[in-house]
Amino acid sequence: MRVVVQADRPLEFQVKELPDPDRLVLDIPGVFVPVKQELAVGGPVEVVRAAQFQTDPDVARVVVQWQARTRYEVQLEDGGSRLVVVVDELPVPPPRTGHVVAIDPGHGGKDPGAIGATGLVEKDVVLDIGLRLRDVLRGQGVRTIMTREADVFVDLADRVPIALRAGATVFVSVHANATTRGVIRGVETYYLKPNSVQLATWIQEELGRLGIPDRGIRTANFKVLRDSPIPAVLVEVGYLTNLEDEALLRTAAFRQRVGEAIARGVVRFIRHVPALQP
Ligand SMILES: [Zn+2]
Repeated sequence: MRVVVQADRPLEFQVKELPDPDRLVLDIPGVFVPVKQELAVGGPVEVVRAAQFQTDPDVARVVVQWQARTRYEVQLEDGGSRLVVVVDELPVPPPRTGHVVAIDPGHGGKDPGAIGATGLVEKDVVLDIGLRLRDVLRGQGVRTIMTREADVFVDLADRVPIALRAGATVFVSVHANATTRGVIRGVETYYLKPNSVQLATWIQEELGRLGIPDRGIRTANFKVLRDSPIPAVLVEVGYLTNLEDEALLRTAAFRQRVGEAIARGVVRFIRHVPALQP
């Protein structure tokens, strides 16, 4: 694959490799990027971002974040005005064998969960995001299990046992929030036990990049978190009682971006932390 930066005059650039997450950074002086751009890629490259690194003098920054670092070359074409990163398309090995990710879309069936400002229903939103999350993870070779895959009621007390019986090593519950104050909006990730802080941090870090307010990681004594001996988080993907959050969550494009962001956080976790079965 090729990542291309096209200008109308010859370019200079500096390349750096940075860890955690593993990424390639290209600084390009004399280039202005009016709007931040981000593209989820797949294969050896997880995501490509372009943004203004500094102004006066202008320096643009392009970041190629690896899913699995592979061979690459940076070259100039077209008299130097086109900067191209050529990335080898190698098969990407699964992030780490042994992990099974349980995805737990909240509510379902007779339990609708929260109802949005204009009627969006939590159980539908979180099931859709859960299925998207599952598909992204599966596409990267990660084993998954769902506590529900349809609009059915699953008792709160059964959710962690369902996951554990299927051999889950990570538990991700997906919910949408509600409050009586419609001004409150944004994403937050809850955890309870110390084994879950890192998972919560990395998921929230990715969600915080989606352009929806970042309300950070928090602790809460939710039943699924209390029940879970494995690293467990509960993601609140926005406030349905806020008109802006509800409007975002109505779009499939945003739900897809949420699924991909959670997946990036999960994959980072399972790459770094060995699978421990309870
Ligand atoms: Zn909920």
